[in-house]
Amino acid sequence: MRTPKPDPGELQRRLRAAYPDAQCALDHQDPFQLVVATILSAQCTDARVNLTTPALFARFPDAAALAGARQEEVEALVKSTGFFRNKARNLIGLGQALVARHGGQVPSDPAALAALPGVGQKTANVVLANAFGVPALAVDTHIFRVARRLGLSKAPTPEKVEADLCRAFPRADWIELHHQLIFHGRRTCDARRPDCAACPLLDLCPTGLGKMKDPHLGVRFEAPSQDLPASALNRRQASAQGPQRIVSLVPSVTELLVQWGFAARLVGRTRYCIEPRWIRNTVPTVGGTKDPDLARIRDLAPDLVILEQDENPKAVAEALTALGIPWLALEIRTVQDCARGLRLLGERLGAPEAAEPRAVALETALKGRRRKGPRALALIWKAPWMSAGPDTYLGDLLRQGGLTPIGPDRYPVLSDADLGDLAPKMILLPTEPYRFNRRHQAELQKRFPEATVHLVDGQALTWYLSRTEAGLDLVRSLR
Ligand code: SF4
Repeated sequence: MRTPKPDPGELQRRLRAAYPDAQCALDHQDPFQLVVATILSAQCTDARVNLTTPALFARFPDAAALAGARQEEVEALVKSTGFFRNKARNLIGLGQALVARHGGQVPSDPAALAALPGVGQKTANVVLANAFGVPALAVDTHIFRVARRLGLSKAPTPEKVEADLCRAFPRADWIELHHQLIFHGRRTCDARRPDCAACPLLDLCPTGLGKMKDPHLGVRFEAPSQDLPASALNRRQASAQGPQRIVSLVPSVTELLVQWGFAARLVGRTRYCIEPRWIRNTVPTVGGTKDPDLARIRDLAPDLVILEQDENPKAVAEALTALGIPWLALEIRTVQDCARGLRLLGERLGAPEAAEPRAVALETALKGRRRKGPRALALIWKAPWMSAGPDTYLGDLLRQGGLTPIGPDRYPVLSDADLGDLAPKMILLPTEPYRFNRRHQAELQKRFPEATVHLVDGQALTWYLSRTEAGLDLVRSLR
C-alpha cells in the first residue's frame, strides 16, 4: 500500500512556526572554524563540540597554525569529542591542505571542499550552506530519521534521502529546512521516544498516525486517537469551530491547553509559559505576563488571547480590544473558581468534554466539612517579604487543603515585625515565583522555632487549573 506523503508546503509552514529559531548549532566565527567544528561533530553532540572548540581555536586560530600542530597536542584538545586520534590527524591534514592548495582559506567550491581531509559530502554541504549561503541539504542522523518517518523518503542511505528531499523542496529553502528538520529531530521526533502526541506535524505524519511502521524503530505506533480517550486529534476535528490561533498569557493555562491536546492551536505564549518544556522550543514568545508585546501578538493574528485578572493587567485587555483582537479573561481567586474556569475555557474552545470530568472531580474533592488546621503563612517573595493572602487562589488552596491561611488580603508587603506579629504555626516557601531554597528554610526555622517551615513545589501551589489537583494533594499532605 502506498503511504501518503505530507504536503511539502504545509510541512514547511508548520516547521517555520514551530522552530523560528532554527539555525546552525555549531559555534563559529568564520568558514575555517565551521569546517573544524563540523569535523569534530562526527559521532559527537554539537554542545560537546562547542565546549571543545574555544580552547582549540585559541591555540590554533587558523589553517597555518593547525598545519604546524603536533598530533599529541591536538589530540589532547579534542579528546572529549571521541575518535580523537583520527580527528586530530584530519584537522592537521586539513590545515596543511588549506595552506598548500588554497592559501590558507576555506574554498567555497563544493568539489574542492569535499576533497579536503576529513571533509566528506555531508561536511562540505554544512560548510557551503552555513559559511557561504550556498543552497545545500546535508542529511545527518536527525534528518535521515525524521524524513523517513514523515514519509518524505524511503531511501536506505543518507545520500538518497538527500536526493529525495532536494527534489521535494524548493532549492531556496534547503538551508532553512536543514536546520528545521534537525531541530525537530532533536526536540520532538526523538530517536527512541518521539513525542507524537505533542508534535505539530502529527496529522501530516504517517508514522505518528500509525499508518506505517516506524522506519527507525521498526514498530507501529498506536495512533493517538486510540491512545487517549479524547485525543488531540479527535478534539481538533470535533472542535474545528473553536479558536485555532490562541495566544496564552497565563503559564498554567498554556500547560492546560497542551494537556487537553490543543498544542497545535497555540501560536504564542509569554516567556513564563515554560511547561511542558518542549513548548519553549515550538511556540514563539510575546513578552511577559505584565508587559506582553502587543505588536507581536497582533502579528500572530490570534483569534483568541487568554488572560487572567491577577496575572495580566487590565490595560492589556483594553489594548487588545482597541486592536480588535478577541480575548477571554479568567478570574481565579478560589479553587471553586477553577471548576468554573475549566468549564468556561472548555466552552470557549469548543471542547466542553475536555473540561467537564475535571471540573466535576474538583467539585467532588471540595465537598465535606473541613477542620480548621494550623495557621499557615504562604510567602511568595523575599526582600521585601510578600505573602499570598487568604482571599487569593493560594490562600483558598490552603483553606481547602485543611490549613488556615493568615496575613492581610491580596499580596501584601510584610516587614520583619509583621512576620513576627502573625505568629504562624506553619510557613510555606514555594519554589516560585521567588526561588526559596533550603537556606531560606533554615533561616526562617531558626527564627520561628515553634512553626514548621516547608519548602514546597511552587508550581503545584500556584499553577491553577493545570495543577490544582496536585496543589490540593500537596497541602493535604502538609496538614
Ligand atoms: S508525529 Fe511522531 S514520528 Fe511523526 S514527525 Fe512527529 S514526532 Fe516524529
